[in-house]
Amino acid sequence: MSAPNIETIVSMAKRRGFVFPASEIYGGLGSSWDYGSLGVELANNIKQSFWRWLVHGRDDIEGLDSSIIQNRLVWKYSGHEATFSDPLVDCRTCKGRFRLDKLQDVACPKDASCNAGSGKECDLTEARAFNLMFRTTVGPVSSDEDESALAYLRPETAQGIFINFKNVLDTSRRKLPFGIAQIGKAFRNEVTPGNFIFRTREFEQMELEYFCQAEDAPRIHQEFIDGFQEWFASLGISGENLKLYEQSKEELAHYADRTVDILYRFFPEREGDAQFDELMGIANRTDFDLKTHSKKPEGLDGKRLNPDSTEDLSYFDPATNQRFYPYCIEPSVGVNRTLLAVLMDAYTEKVNEKGEVRVILKLKNDLAPIKVAVLPLAKNKPEIVALAKQLKKDLLPSMRTVYDDTGGIGKLYARQDEIGTPFCVTVDHESLEDHAVTVRDRDTWGQERIPIADLKDYLLKRLNA
Ligand code: ATP
Repeated sequence: MSAPNIETIVSMAKRRGFVFPASEIYGGLGSSWDYGSLGVELANNIKQSFWRWLVHGRDDIEGLDSSIIQNRLVWKYSGHEATFSDPLVDCRTCKGRFRLDKLQDVACPKDASCNAGSGKECDLTEARAFNLMFRTTVGPVSSDEDESALAYLRPETAQGIFINFKNVLDTSRRKLPFGIAQIGKAFRNEVTPGNFIFRTREFEQMELEYFCQAEDAPRIHQEFIDGFQEWFASLGISGENLKLYEQSKEELAHYADRTVDILYRFFPEREGDAQFDELMGIANRTDFDLKTHSKKPEGLDGKRLNPDSTEDLSYFDPATNQRFYPYCIEPSVGVNRTLLAVLMDAYTEKVNEKGEVRVILKLKNDLAPIKVAVLPLAKNKPEIVALAKQLKKDLLPSMRTVYDDTGGIGKLYARQDEIGTPFCVTVDHESLEDHAVTVRDRDTWGQERIPIADLKDYLLKRLNA
């Protein structure tokens, strides 16, 4: 089973400390969210999984961490200044503002039972392009309108990779094919953010730009489409909740040869295809990006297409003695959407022997924010408490362990189940005599008695199984 809807996750996430509404004590800020102690661990574990798999696990990918604020010209030549916009419509009746291609997703502010897509109440204007980039100014400026100081918060991490292509190539001495990966914040002034952390104005991306010869691009593209489905499976996301979506020729960005989105069943309460929405996109971006940021390419009139660039980002192939602009395959995945998919997929309910419904978050061991909770059966018995605290201290360097004595054992187990802790270790009266503890499994609720001397090895083995 997985979560029946996003709302179930919203309340669990707040109650247990995964995600809180941002600026809550001041009334919040539309669709901004803060990640609490468990949320930040889960997000870090997802990012580490991506990084380990691509940057450390393969031998053809370098990492990068580029600036959020770049020279404005980056966004001019990438095309974002002119075209990174969504179609915005206003409603003359309810005064709501909607993204034309996402009308179904948002309710009319006047009548909650009506969404703009149903057209029940809304009287929409013609669509106009609304640029999604956040503007800011750099340095001491006389006014916010000072064009010479205008800069943008990056709307994607990818461009930071393209403009560093030559730096990485020269310093890493790579030969094609090779990739550059980056994880970082991106900002889009979304017309209609919403659905919890699915669409926010500030979010995080994990992106890879994989450079190759044009003739290899279709094959490599397909390899990443397959590879990312396997990666999602390794995060515990069920294949049944994933779906591929091939963008039509009309939907493709002007520079893309083929784009396949991997969709997740974010909306199980809806009918048919509406249950699914984008988790990530994987594009064959051709040679557009390296060419557009290069100083050499010329238009039909013989003039430089980019008179501002000081570099040529072409690649020289010593084997064929040819110079060309490599093709680029781009898998781009949101950290926040992945975290939401992971939470939804891990969500399960189980009825205990008293007939009570318990939530179990069946997270994969390497994603779980806490691996082990050490619980004393009697917190008024100093020897038991001391032993439990000592065990926590001993386990800590090898696995993230917490000590908790803030409730009865049933309540403590329930809390750890709900935050996805794979194992609870219980110290009881007998432990003082037999030097053994009870290890409880989150998913089966099965219990095993383990000698304290073997505890660390036993847990490490189970965690890495
Ligand atoms: P959408 O169609 O949902 O607006 P997109 O096609 O514009 O998304 P891309 O530009 O392909 O998105 O970005 C790559 C990935 O970054 C997305 O698949 C998603 O995981 C994530 N992402 C994009 N925009 C947002 C956002 N506003 N909030 C959270 N994640 C986002």
